[in-house]
Amino acid sequence: MSRPTQATIDLQALRDNFTLAQSLATDSQTMPMVKANAYGHGMVEVAQALADLAPAFGVACIEEALELRDAGICQPILLLEGTFSADEVNTAALKGLWLMVENHLQKEAVLNADIAQPVNVWLGVDTGMHRLGFPPEEVAEVFQSLSDSRNVNDQIVIASHFACAEDLDNDFTAVQLATFGNTISGFDSVKTSLANSASILGRPDTHRDWNRPGYMIYGASPFDHAQENGDKLKPVMTLSSAVISVRNIEAGEKVGYSGKWCAERPTTIATIGIGYGDGYPRTAPKGTPVLVNGIECPLVGSVSMDMITVDVTDLKTVAIGDSVELWGKQLPVNRVAEYCATLGYELLTRMPLRVPRIYK
Ligand SMILES: *Cc1c(COP(=O)(O)O)cnc(C)c1O
Repeated sequence: MSRPTQATIDLQALRDNFTLAQSLATDSQTMPMVKANAYGHGMVEVAQALADLAPAFGVACIEEALELRDAGICQPILLLEGTFSADEVNTAALKGLWLMVENHLQKEAVLNADIAQPVNVWLGVDTGMHRLGFPPEEVAEVFQSLSDSRNVNDQIVIASHFACAEDLDNDFTAVQLATFGNTISGFDSVKTSLANSASILGRPDTHRDWNRPGYMIYGASPFDHAQENGDKLKPVMTLSSAVISVRNIEAGEKVGYSGKWCAERPTTIATIGIGYGDGYPRTAPKGTPVLVNGIECPLVGSVSMDMITVDVTDLKTVAIGDSVELWGKQLPVNRVAEYCATLGYELLTRMPLRVPRIYK
């Protein structure tokens, strides 16, 4: 026997979601984002599961890229934030990594590098998110200096990122799109990249040479409402555990740390073997849904490091060992996130290593 807490990772669902991203944009190349341990799913396992489908992978930093190389991933790997120090350009050239160039320091690092083979470069444009990228008016000059360098491969990709893509009615995406269009209007036949998950699912007008899906390939929708394509996604991670204790308490008795929750009726409490040490959010309030034997029951009392407590009074029978789903196939992670005033993105990505990933 071992502790029942685990994250089951459905690699077929992952592949289906990736294939959906491809099928929604058949004129685009689809580069899955596997940064941050593949949003908590296990970077190497996810990349290996997509290796025969994906033309390239996206990560946040060179450490992640090298981990993929060491695991035998041969595709190009794009460093989404580019280099953090100039010496990374040499490693990138040697290892076939692609570099975002988002500022003048990164540009100079590429231009001044002493490298035998040139690197592939993506040039980041700040079209209004104001986080990374060159201002539109500098792009032509930066593009020219990179194109002229023998350190840079021919096909430079010009990229930008949307601030409000998950809100399909938000006009700002159109503003960014127009800014991007104006920025590259003077270039002939340049390759471009814009779309993240939300744009792939909901805005075909943003699809370009390269699309960059992250959240969607893990089977969660970036939208907080029903959406035709978003609703086709299949959850990849199912976080599950089991009942480890059951007790009956009287009305007026309290449960958990600080006695925060008080029973209003005779209540059956099931204790579940999962807590904030396992990535279950400590901010989850009373009433957050937990599936016990497939039936939704409300969380009660505060979340402990290794345990939570659930009101199972309305279930017919509950016993130690009964199965519990915290999110996944039957309970969308977005629903739990909403109770906790955060995003499913965060709940998946911060899943600690303590929780064993079981790959199916
Ligand atoms: C993480 C990331 C993405 C993926 O975003 P999702 O909303 O998860 O699809 C796309 N582009 C860039 C630059 C990113 O950093």
